[in-house]
Amino acid sequence: MAVPTFKKIDIDTYKPGKSNLKKNRLVIKLSANESALGLSPRVKKILKQKNLTIPKYPDSKCRELRNKISKKFNCEYNKIICGSGSDEIIQMLCQLFLKPGDEVIVPQYSFLMYRVYSKIVGARVIFSREKSFKVSVDEIINKVNKKTKIVFLANPNNPTGTYLDKKELINLRRKLNKKVLLVIDDAYQEYMIAKEYSSGLDLFKKTENVFILRTFSKIYGLAGLRIGWGYGHKKIVDALYNIKPPFNVNKLAQFCAIESLKDKNFIKKSIKHNLIWNNKIKNEMNKYGIFSNKISANFLLLNFNNCRFSAEYIRKRLENKGILLREMKSYGIKNCLRLTIGNSKENKIFLKAMRLIIKDV
Ligand SMILES: *Cc1c(COP(=O)(O)O)cnc(C)c1O
Repeated sequence: MAVPTFKKIDIDTYKPGKSNLKKNRLVIKLSANESALGLSPRVKKILKQKNLTIPKYPDSKCRELRNKISKKFNCEYNKIICGSGSDEIIQMLCQLFLKPGDEVIVPQYSFLMYRVYSKIVGARVIFSREKSFKVSVDEIINKVNKKTKIVFLANPNNPTGTYLDKKELINLRRKLNKKVLLVIDDAYQEYMIAKEYSSGLDLFKKTENVFILRTFSKIYGLAGLRIGWGYGHKKIVDALYNIKPPFNVNKLAQFCAIESLKDKNFIKKSIKHNLIWNNKIKNEMNKYGIFSNKISANFLLLNFNNCRFSAEYIRKRLENKGILLREMKSYGIKNCLRLTIGNSKENKIFLKAMRLIIKDV
């Protein structure tokens, strides 16, 4: 017997933020940027009530959800495509745009899935240098050549938490060769309150060579259901529909996403909670010589260069207490940890644990 041969694909497989530990029963997961407040009460209700007709296939085109999205975000129904997480949209974009030998540009410390899906279809991933953990427009432009097909950008960026402001984004699009697709990933858009920030969707709704990504995994609290959406020119979206797996978004995800969009109150509460705790945690970390990005999304990139303990030491000590932070090795960032803002109880436990570790008791 022999295993038939398959392609060898040279990628670092994505390792999700840790979620379980063997020894400890109480696990506080602050490693994957999920919703601090869990599920919207409206979604909880629908999960109990709705007749889900699970034996029947879901709507392959997510019509009702897209209708709701187009109304809520004031954008065109025909330019929306839903995916099993925005993750799947990234995958489909790579399948649609890239052939072996093509190049994509990603910032040095960006979300890992851009490079994973690009490499799977044979494209070369070119990294643009960042300045103090912030994306540099000029460095991106410097990397463009005839082979460049896509520039991927999460704004604000995961894991650094930095962002390009409105002017910088417009500048990037203006300087970038117009044949290159700019993909702007708005995953953390809802958390952003800075005046100089604009989401990709708000800025480029009508721009033919910009494609926007949105997700229900973060503030909407539906990470476990896998649902996100993309927005772009109708020609691109039509082509994506042609290659899309027919029933990529399951029925439960569609129902819950529709419901989550209605709960303005929950989103408001989540934003407020995020701001309060982000500030509190950032200030307390500063006292220990642990510094981070300006407050932006629902996480902080904690830098231990001025702390008397290393990131790795703190990560292990926290893990022994059942508290999980994201290590940054796979992103190539040294001596840093990414902390997701949790619910109030989780944040208090984290702060107390840090106090004890720093005081070495
Ligand atoms: C979390 C995250 C996503 C969301 O991915 P889903 O597949 O929708 O869960 C997308 N982009 C970035 C930058 C993220 O951090």
